[in-house]
Amino acid sequence: MITFIISLILITNQNDLKGFENKETAEYYAKIIGCEGYFESNINGSTYFFPCQNKDELQAIMQRREIEPKVTELWDPEPKVVDPGNSLSDAPSDAIVLFDGSNLNNWIHKDGEPANWDLNEGYFTVKPGSGSILTKQSFGSCQLHIEFMTPSVIVSEGQGRGNSGVYFMEDPDRPGDTGYEIQVLDSYNNRTYSNGQAGSVYKQHIPLVNASRKPGEWQTYDIIFKAPVFSESGNLESPAYVTVFHNGVLIQNNVQIQGYVKFIGYPEYRAHPSKLPIKLQDHSNLVSYRNIWVREL
Ligand code: MG
Repeated sequence: MITFIISLILITNQNDLKGFENKETAEYYAKIIGCEGYFESNINGSTYFFPCQNKDELQAIMQRREIEPKVTELWDPEPKVVDPGNSLSDAPSDAIVLFDGSNLNNWIHKDGEPANWDLNEGYFTVKPGSGSILTKQSFGSCQLHIEFMTPSVIVSEGQGRGNSGVYFMEDPDRPGDTGYEIQVLDSYNNRTYSNGQAGSVYKQHIPLVNASRKPGEWQTYDIIFKAPVFSESGNLESPAYVTVFHNGVLIQNNVQIQGYVKFIGYPEYRAHPSKLPIKLQDHSNLVSYRNIWVREL
């Protein structure tokens, strides 16, 4: 990017090169464009410094850079090879598998006790009253794949039907819900406030569409979460962003998260570590999960 900008400056001013005000900068850019040293030139009574040994060398390099196809080729870094899964749901080779159907070894309750939600053949189900479960490992920015199923037996309505949630950056040392929630809810023919339905950034962002399947059917979330950044003194330097695909449909398009989840009150940020666990919410409803994997970004 820097190279490109500098090339642009020099090329566009080829007949009237403005140069730099100090020789260190000229030498720095000499290395970038592929020559060495600097030379001085007096322009309108002021001394300017240019990359390369002299004007001829600089102009030759700039002309070459302008015409060679390789000028716009970027070779570094080379993306590493990853074996994709056979379907959108399969974990690629560089994913951290958080649940492969066999056990809950990667999960604990907030108090540190082993996760004791009900493990079934290839999936697990919220055990109401047992409390939410968190990953043992902490994550910052990541790509998460998770599959969920809301109960086929409908027992309530609104927020009481198939409610759970996927929380990013849940701080186990703070009481209550402290993460950034993507809502899990049975939103199939079940009206509630729009920024609280399935796929909402809870109480913040309404999903673009309602891509919900029927209760009792497996559904997918593919989520790209960008962690917020805080300064050492705790000020917010960059908010969190999230992109969500629900059953393969884009429902959150890089929306800016306004703070950690709040049931009552407006969201706000509170400084936290750069990596924290992912949480699945016990909201007393029998929501099931399977095939959970994450890629750190
Ligand atoms: Mg919830």
